[in-house]
Amino acid sequence: MRKLVILGAGTAGTMMLNKLSGTLDRSEWQITIIDQHETHYYQPGFLFIPFGIYSRKDVVKPKRDFFPSNVTVVMSAVEKIEPEKNRVLLANKAVVQYDYLIIATGAKIVPEQTEGMKNGLWYKNIFEFYTIEGTCALAEFFKRWQGGRLIINIVEMPIKCPVAPLEFAFLADWYFTERGIRDKVDIQFVTPLPGAFTKPRASAVLGDFLNKKNINLTAEFSIGRVNGAEKKIISWDENEIPFDVLVSIPTNMGDDSIARSGLGDELNFVPTDKKTLRSEQYENIFVLGDATNLPSSKAGSVAHFQSDILYENFLSVAEGREPHEEFDGHANCFIESGFGKGILIDFNYDTEPLPGKFPLPGVGPFSLLEETKMNHYGKIMFRWMYWNYLLKGRELPIESNMTMAGKRA
Ligand SMILES: Cc1cc2nc3c(=O)[nH]c(=O)nc-3n(C[C@H](O)[C@H](O)[C@H](O)COP(=O)(O)OP(=O)(O)OC[C@H]3O[C@@H](n4cnc5c(N)ncnc54)[C@H](O)[C@@H]3O)c2cc1C
Repeated sequence: MRKLVILGAGTAGTMMLNKLSGTLDRSEWQITIIDQHETHYYQPGFLFIPFGIYSRKDVVKPKRDFFPSNVTVVMSAVEKIEPEKNRVLLANKAVVQYDYLIIATGAKIVPEQTEGMKNGLWYKNIFEFYTIEGTCALAEFFKRWQGGRLIINIVEMPIKCPVAPLEFAFLADWYFTERGIRDKVDIQFVTPLPGAFTKPRASAVLGDFLNKKNINLTAEFSIGRVNGAEKKIISWDENEIPFDVLVSIPTNMGDDSIARSGLGDELNFVPTDKKTLRSEQYENIFVLGDATNLPSSKAGSVAHFQSDILYENFLSVAEGREPHEEFDGHANCFIESGFGKGILIDFNYDTEPLPGKFPLPGVGPFSLLEETKMNHYGKIMFRWMYWNYLLKGRELPIESNMTMAGKRA
């Protein structure tokens, strides 16, 4: 039997498992998936929890609901990969041998990377919304908060879903307006980027939205430390911004097991060929989703497009051929902008988000780089698509690589 092992049963690993298990000949292939936790979180839903739109029950399902019956499931943490010996060592002391390995261990927040972040105010006046614990704690806090200065701060890039902090700011504007205390809440968006977003044209449009919503933008602020006693964030060049509530998007890093295996960069992301999705170091290792060091966005939609490419490339390599499909960095992100509206952006490594219609040229129904109600419905529908199509590895009517059809240059 040839052995395929997938590390991580999150968005990327589960999609890949479902795609490949339906194709690979099971009399020849043994497929194993390994994860440390039984629960699957719909992470895009974390955004909505602080504002009472979703609660915990709306974003969780058992991982095993999404595994096909004919694969081996191991629930244990990966301790180390030994690529020279083609094997994985697990916390439960098991040793799992592989012929091919797909690393899909994702990214996680590491607030400890910023001095003073996890002080006595953590989950009291300093919050994050990138974990279920953080976002639920913030929801409880917001219910009772009567106003003050709310700072939303990105520590450093790259982060999962780079538009999520902006969406958080837009939803905060909506939420405090609905509660009738918007005039008592000073919302400030503080980022290390030169503007609201990474790409210039989208950055200008999204910066205008911040402005219109009376959300102050401080760009090029690289946080060095948090002073909990005085409630302020301080940049490396000693600029200070006081807060009543800090919502931090802490440093995002790959899993520690990647570092222990000598497979990661300084943030524990795995150096990956940006087109083939093969590890730069080992020909029988592939990398998918947030675990890669690629310049594409760390997003579920990106993991989905990548999985289409990797599916083809994996089958080629398994048949002794070279990988032939090329990933172009395609990302497609709905940006919730509050008051029942949203914005959609579609881009890749080389083309920044442009205006137009999506997916059908001239028809849409979604509008690119423009705020519409239909884009909001797209965002809300995404959860259903996620559980019912994406995770199950089903085809979507969207090209894996970006198309210029419908876009205005
Ligand atoms: C607040 C927020 C909002 C977001 N919004 C959007 C959005 O609107 N649209 C969008 O497309 N994307 C969004 N994302 C991003 C999206 O959720 C991720 O990009 C996606 O989940 C990446 O999939 P992944 O499989 O690479 O990682 P994950 O889904 O995080 O899965 C990684 C898996 O690996 C497992 N694992 C890690 N280390 C080990 C180990 N040592 N041993 C065993 N198992 C291990 C974990 O338990 C986990 O199950 C958002 C993310 C957040 C946090």
